[in-house]
Amino acid sequence: MDRIKLGLVGIGKIARDQHLPAIAASVDFELAATASRHARVDGVEGHGSIAELIAARPEIDALSLCTPPEGRFEQAMAAIAAGKHVMLEKPPAATVSEARTLERAAHAAGVSLYATWHSREAGEVDAARDWLAARRIDVVRIRWMEDIRQWHPGQDWILAAGGFGVFDPGINALSIATRILPQPLTVLAATMDIPANRACPIAASVRFRTGSAEVDAKFDFLQTGEQTWQIEVETDAGLLRLTEGGGRLERPGQPSLSGPDREYPRLYRAFAELIRSGQSDVDLQPIQLVADAFLVAERRIVDPFQF
Ligand code: NAP
Repeated sequence: MDRIKLGLVGIGKIARDQHLPAIAASVDFELAATASRHARVDGVEGHGSIAELIAARPEIDALSLCTPPEGRFEQAMAAIAAGKHVMLEKPPAATVSEARTLERAAHAAGVSLYATWHSREAGEVDAARDWLAARRIDVVRIRWMEDIRQWHPGQDWILAAGGFGVFDPGINALSIATRILPQPLTVLAATMDIPANRACPIAASVRFRTGSAEVDAKFDFLQTGEQTWQIEVETDAGLLRLTEGGGRLERPGQPSLSGPDREYPRLYRAFAELIRSGQSDVDLQPIQLVADAFLVAERRIVDPFQF
C-alpha cells in the first residue's frame, strides 16, 4: 500500500523529540514537507507557513499540527478546506468551541480528523482501564507535578492566554483519567495560582466527581527534584497506582507492569487507520474538563514567574 504523504507543521520540541522519529519509523507515512516560521528539518522541504506548504505541495494527503493550541484552529481549518486529513497535538484547540467546529468542518469536507491524546497511548493505560472496569471506585488522587523550566524552557506561550498553563501537561492526566475510569468525570471546584505577570495558572487544584467517588487532582509546574505524573485509584479490591505518566502499573497481588514508550508510533498507526477507514476520532472530554475548571475556579495571584 502506498505511504500517506504527510506535512508536519510547527517544528518545535515535540515535533523533534517525538513526531520526526515516529514518522521516520512509520510504514504508513512519508514526510513530504514541513511548515514552520523559523525552523527547518535537515533534508526535508521546508515552508514558512501552512498556506505555502499547501500551495506548493497539493498532492500531500495529510497534515500533522504540532504548533501551540492558540492559533492551531486557523491552521486546521485551512488544512481541512484544502481537503487534507488532519492530526492535532493535544490539546486539540484553544477552546472547546473551536474543537467542535473543526470536527464539524472535517465531517462536512469528508476528511479524517484525529484529536490525539498521546498519554492515552502510554504502555499501561489500557491494562489499568481493564482492571478498573470491574471495580468499585472509592477515591482517586491525581498528582501531575513537573518542572516547567526543565520540560518547557522558554515557552512563554504556555503561560499566555490560550496556553493552558499547568493544564498543558495536566490535560494529559485528564486524558488518562477519562480513559481508565469507568464513569465520566464532572468538575466540582478548582483553585488556580496565576503569576502576577502571566495569564494562565502555574499551579492548580481541582476536585472532580466520578460516579459516587471524588477525584482530588493537584497540578504543579514548580516541582523540582523528583517529577511526578501519577494517578492512584482506591477501589473495593485495593489500590491501583499508575505512575510515570501511564508507563508503570501496580495493582494488589500482581507484579508491577512497565511497558515500552510507544506513544507516538501508536498515534501515527491510529491516524493511518482513521484515514484508511474514512473515520475521525475527536474526544473532547479532557479539554471540556479543563474548560469547566476555568469556569468555576477561584483565582489567586502569586509571585511573578520568569523562566
Ligand atoms: P514548542 O517547542 O514551542 O514548539 C511549537 C512550535 O510551533 C514552535 O517552535 C514554533 O516554530 C511553532 N509556532 C507556530 N506558531 C507559534 C506561536 N504562536 N507561538 C509559539 N510557537 C509557534 O512547543 P512544543 O512543546 O513542541 O508544544 C507544541 C504542542 O505539542 C503543544 O500543544 C503541546 O501541548 C504539545 N506537546 C508538547 C510536549 C512536550 O513535552 N513539549 C509533549 C506532548 C505534546 P516556528 O517558530 O518555527 O514557527
